[in-house]
Amino acid sequence: MAAKRPDRTARRERERTARKLVREREKLALLVPGGSEDRPIEVVSPAVIDSRVGSMKCPQCEGSYTIDDHAAPSAGLRRIAVTCRLCHVKRALWFRLGVSGPN
Ligand SMILES: [Zn+2]
Repeated sequence: MAAKRPDRTARRERERTARKLVREREKLALLVPGGSEDRPIEVVSPAVIDSRVGSMKCPQCEGSYTIDDHAAPSAGLRRIAVTCRLCHVKRALWFRLGVSGPN
């Protein structure tokens, strides 16, 4: 509360940097497990997906996710639409249903 607000120029500079960071983090988010269709997280059953999502953090703000929707674009693949509770970014998390242990 006591902190003085930065002046307009400083704030703009900060916002520009923040936007760049957002883009960088989104790129990284695609590379982590579950971040894209090419990198699904393997799970033994759809029943564990919700708790897995519950333990994942938004790469932007470390917030937790609210699950909006489960979709099955193909057999054994699950696309989970989520929204971050803190920054409200929407993203998709990918899971693949597999057997436990190496194939
Ligand atoms: Zn977030």
